[in-house]
Parts: sequence; structure tokens; C-alpha cells
Amino acid sequence: MIIVHSVEELISHTQNMRDSIGFVPTMGALHEGHISLIKRAKEENSKVVVSIFVNPTQFLEGEDFDAYPRQSLSDSEICRLAGVDVLFMPTSTSMYGEDEISIFAPPIRGFILDGSSRAGHFNGVLTVVMKLLNIINFHKPQKLRAYFGKKDAQQLALITQMVKDYFMSVEIVGCEIVRDKSGLALSSRNAYLTTQEMQKALLLSKSLYEAVKLIMQGVLETKIVSASMEKILLETTKIDYIAFVDREFKQLQRVEIGNTIILVACMVGSTRLIDNIWI
Ligand code: AMP
Repeated sequence: MIIVHSVEELISHTQNMRDSIGFVPTMGALHEGHISLIKRAKEENSKVVVSIFVNPTQFLEGEDFDAYPRQSLSDSEICRLAGVDVLFMPTSTSMYGEDEISIFAPPIRGFILDGSSRAGHFNGVLTVVMKLLNIINFHKPQKLRAYFGKKDAQQLALITQMVKDYFMSVEIVGCEIVRDKSGLALSSRNAYLTTQEMQKALLLSKSLYEAVKLIMQGVLETKIVSASMEKILLETTKIDYIAFVDREFKQLQRVEIGNTIILVACMVGSTRLIDNIWI
């Protein structure tokens, strides 16, 4: 595995990747969720590139940019063992200049749910993803696939839309959410949780499973399902939102089987956690 830190080096190392490239962008502190994306990229492409970059532009003022876990040594070992070909760990100055153009998230879908609680977050996400995809696509391989987790469902939907809206030559692949045995969706931010908060964090998946149970019993009114989720979550967490959207992130009044995503965002202590389930 080759590790590179500058855009120029990456462009030079992708020069001979003529066939298919699987690209997995991350912010590091890698866990089994990230590894599942890398494995899938490995299965479906002849070369795999992973990026680790804690992207400053997607953190708002007062958020956890400084505290975000950074563990480049163990991360690079994980990538090496997973068979990654090139690991890209750029510096901020390599990725950003002064007075730059940035991508704007769509005014509606980019500013609801996480885009409302974290206004501007998706501008930063889309900008960095656009940059990364353009770098990897520099030599125009036969096929570029980029892998994103359904864990960040709104992010996945917006990136899929950006690629479509901007006629970009890349296939966006959505990957299943990886959970631990207790149902907790893996996240780098779980590292912030105390043992007690870990127990509270379990309520997110518990509420989603309760929703599925009700829906399977034929309860399709989102208000009713939402109320029973709220009951579970309010025990010990502060709810940011409970939402029912279709695959394009339009709000639903009734659950449509095969076309619904149920999302939750909660504060557990001072940590904001998100989770969702695709119905
Ligand atoms: P992050 O490092 O948190 O920016 O995540 C990098 C990629 O990994 C994103 O596409 C996430 O959606 C994905 N990801 C994070 N956690 C999980 C998980 N538990 N299961 C599947 N994918 C995940």
C-alpha cells in the first residue's frame, strides 16, 4: 500500500489505474463500518483508493473538529490489512486554497434534518467530495465507483444528486449500515460516549426496530409510528428529529413499503448521534 499526502502525488499514483477504481472517502478513526465499504470496493474494482481527511469545511463553528479522533497509524494498518492500494491522507492546505468556490447544497434537501441542525454542513461535504472525486477521476479510469454508507443517508442522497446534477462520471454505491451486536450503529463519534451513554445510545436503534415492528403490524401513519419512537427516545436522550422520508428525501405522511427511510438524530450527553433504517 502506498500512502500519499498531496494531491499531486495521488494524481501521479492513479496514472496507471486504467481499469476500475473503487474509492472510499472517510474521516478516519476507522471501524467495521468503514471496513465493509473498503471490502465492497475491493470486490468490485481492480484498485482501491481510501482517503482519510477530517474535512474542516463540514464542521460548523463550535462543533467537534478539534476533538475528532485522529489515529493515522492504526488507520493505515487497517487499510493495509484490508488490501487498499493507495491511502490518501491530505493536509488541509493541499485540499483548500484561499477564496475558493464552494458547492452549495440544494436549498431544500440540503437544509432539512441534519442540514437544518447543522446549517452549511452539507456545503462542506459536497465541496470536499467534488474535489476528491475530481482528483481520483483525473486520468479518467474506465470506471470510478465511490462507496458511501447508508448510515449517513442524507449525505448519500445529496452526493448521488450532485453527481447527477453535475453530470459527473462516477457511480455512487450505497452500503448497508454496520452495527454492533447490541444494534448500535458503528460511528467514529461513539468513541466520545461513556459506558452509561453507550446504553442511552442504544435507544436510537431500539426506536427504529420498534418502528419496523409497528409498520409490519400495518401501522403506516408516520405520526403514530413517530409517537411510539419518541416515547422510547425521550427516556434518556434529547431528540433532534424523527423523520420519515422517501428515497429522495421528501417527507412522508404515510410509510411506503420499499421507499421509506426512517431517521433519528439525538443528543446523548454532548454527542450528537444519527441512525436510520430503510424500509
Ligand atoms: P466518516 O468517516 O464518518 O465520514 O464515514 C465515512 C464513510 O463511512 C461514510 O460514507 C459513512 O456513511 C460510512 N459509515 C460510517 N459508519 C458506518 C456504518 N456503521 N456502517 C456503514 N457505513 C458507515
